[in-house]
Amino acid sequence: MFKIIGSLLLFALSSFHFATASELIIENVTVISSHLDKPQENQFVRVVDGRISAVSDKEISPVSSDALKIDGKGKYLTYGLMDSHVHVNSVPGIGFIKSDKAKQYPQLISAYLHQQPKSFLYYGVTQVLNLGANDGEKIFTKGEIHPEYFSCKPIPIVGGYPDLDAKHTLTHSDFFIVEPGITKSIPASKSHSEQTPEKVVARIAETGAPCIKLYFENGFSDASDWPMLLDETVAKIRTEATKHGLQLVAHANAIDMYHHALANDVDIFAHGLWNWNWPKDKGAPPVADTLDRLMAGNVGYMPTIHVMQALKDMFADKLVSDKERKLVLPKSLLTWFETDEGQWFRNELKGDFPPDMQEAQIYEMFNYGFKRALQSTKYLADHDYPMILASDFPSSPSFAAAPGLSTYHELLNMHDAGVSLKAILDAATVNGPIQFEIATDYGTVERGKIANMLLLNSDPLINIQAWQDIETIIIRGNVVSRDSLTVR
Ligand SMILES: [Zn+2]
Repeated sequence: MFKIIGSLLLFALSSFHFATASELIIENVTVISSHLDKPQENQFVRVVDGRISAVSDKEISPVSSDALKIDGKGKYLTYGLMDSHVHVNSVPGIGFIKSDKAKQYPQLISAYLHQQPKSFLYYGVTQVLNLGANDGEKIFTKGEIHPEYFSCKPIPIVGGYPDLDAKHTLTHSDFFIVEPGITKSIPASKSHSEQTPEKVVARIAETGAPCIKLYFENGFSDASDWPMLLDETVAKIRTEATKHGLQLVAHANAIDMYHHALANDVDIFAHGLWNWNWPKDKGAPPVADTLDRLMAGNVGYMPTIHVMQALKDMFADKLVSDKERKLVLPKSLLTWFETDEGQWFRNELKGDFPPDMQEAQIYEMFNYGFKRALQSTKYLADHDYPMILASDFPSSPSFAAAPGLSTYHELLNMHDAGVSLKAILDAATVNGPIQFEIATDYGTVERGKIANMLLLNSDPLINIQAWQDIETIIIRGNVVSRDSLTVR
């Protein structure tokens, strides 16, 4: 007797968390995958030991006696989402888990970190790429189910962004560069002779990371006084990265910083181009020209429009999607957001503006950056340039970010910018794996790929909201009911 798990039964089993079987068959489903010209109806998909072993328009009979069957009639099967820019060591509303702020709230942090992987899965995110320090990695990957985890290793310059005046960021890192003239000391346990570009890149290659992140950031908005890596250092890192087969990811979001990164032959931008500050005597900001150069160089693009959304939303009359946030953020954290202390980051930002400035005006200031992020994305979309889904969650200590939900909002933002539903499917499923060279295992519903898939109730090529109309999440062949992933 084969186990037939229809959708109703799946949700009727209240204690059901996830079902594991060595063999899984999804029947009569419409397959939507980037490698296909159009949706394929009435397909049968077999998964064996966590990998897709067959996709066919003919009925597939189970081989093993404990095979699990899912009726896919009227449903859509896609590959799972990859969010290629997240920070699993940072908590919305609080910030990095090693910060002094975080140390005051160990219970809030613990409740959040245990929920975080489930919240990503709840929104169909089955792969994440961590683009910062990896101190949250252990907890993220410890639970019984979690998205698959990849990480890039950043090489900050000591005293520059994002190290700046922080005491702790480099204590636990082996990867940083000290440039001449920097007076900030490095931890006593570290030796200067070990921090050369050659040695740092070689150590990163040993970790198995697919990429290195460099910061092209001399200050936010109009500021420009933070130290940066010297050109000769970046050139050395570029050479060593190529030698070791590592991709160079550039943190940059301003025109001049984009130029700097492009001149250094980076492989991908970790942020959209939203800072259009440009000297008045040099005419209009060369946004199109900069993006043309990016396209000509075949450089990857992560729009990360959500960064600006998370900032402006803190000053909105009402937070968008309060109902959804309750499903993915612990109640204790949501309650804390309501307190004065929980508003610290919002108040800190407010302090940067004149005291008589209305909140609606502050909202508009951030909305300005948000619109520019949309415009840059639209320019690339108009040129059919492929992009990569990346929320940069939680890009700041904004209480308006939420795991998984922020990724979904990024999809909505890309749609609002004018990216087609097919291009969004590509950006969300396969473009990340292609960029980071893991596409032999991930990204499409094809034989041989790791079985990370979503069963949707509606068609994501017709409606962007289909991406939150998820019935079932399949991670490494394990079938997870969506309801079991919410905050308990
Ligand atoms: Zn980031």
